[in-house]
Amino acid sequence: MVYIVGAGPGAKDLITLRGLRLLQVADLVIYAGSLVNPELLTETKEGCRILNSAEMTLEQVIDEMEKAENAGLCTVRLHTGDPCIYGAIREQMDWMDRRSIPYEICPGVSSFCGAAASLEMEYTLPEVSQSVVITRMAGRTPVPERESIRSFAAHQATMVIFLSTGMLKQLTEELLAGGYGPETPAAIVYKATWPEEKIIRCSVKDLARRAEEEKIRKTALIVVGQAVSQSGYLRSCLYAPEFETEFRRAERDKKMETGKRDMI
Ligand code: SAH
Repeated sequence: MVYIVGAGPGAKDLITLRGLRLLQVADLVIYAGSLVNPELLTETKEGCRILNSAEMTLEQVIDEMEKAENAGLCTVRLHTGDPCIYGAIREQMDWMDRRSIPYEICPGVSSFCGAAASLEMEYTLPEVSQSVVITRMAGRTPVPERESIRSFAAHQATMVIFLSTGMLKQLTEELLAGGYGPETPAAIVYKATWPEEKIIRCSVKDLARRAEEEKIRKTALIVVGQAVSQSGYLRSCLYAPEFETEFRRAERDKKMETGKRDMI
């Protein structure tokens, strides 16, 4: 069996319990060496074979998995964050299907969640933004034209931009061309949840300059949108005294006290 496991964003204890247990019983671990915290590998059992996929091709990864499978061993394919985001797992699963290798996915905490925690941020604030766009600039991997940063920027929703720290000038041009104002709040989160994490708060127009000043060129997320300021939002309905839910009666008197739910 091959378990495709999300390692979490960086901090060792942000892997799931299930992921940790799989890591502890695995006979072979193939980990994404460029971003997975190597401290996690200390959880593997004695004799576990450990390979760094950063130095391997897809063909080599699959061959190793197949050999392990034929020997009746348990493999963990350890990906950074959650494997569903830029994880290149579909191609692995298709090869495994062709070679009849059974697999299962164990989710992880994506870096976009780690970054929100580090920023002490709620991406979805009522009246500010109720959507999160997860995207990237086109690099060696192309992005379909209909998904350009410019077209997403037109929505003015919260945006979390992966894999683009080396292209901040172009990213900024695209964000501005799409309709974000130059003063729109933004943040750069470098190595979220790692000990060397850095958080930079700035505005869209200053993204490239600030990253350069801090010498941040990779392993960062760019968060953009009015929500980054974490202000100007409407109180939630769910926890408003006058709002009745399946689990809680409305407090009629409180309605008089609080009146309309306030902008905060
Ligand atoms: N599957 C991963 C993303 C892999 S793509 C996830 O769910 O997070 C790799 C990109 O993710 C990096 O270039 C960077 O943009 C981002 N990234 C991964 N870990 C990060 C972290 N701890 N802090 C900030 N960005 C991170």
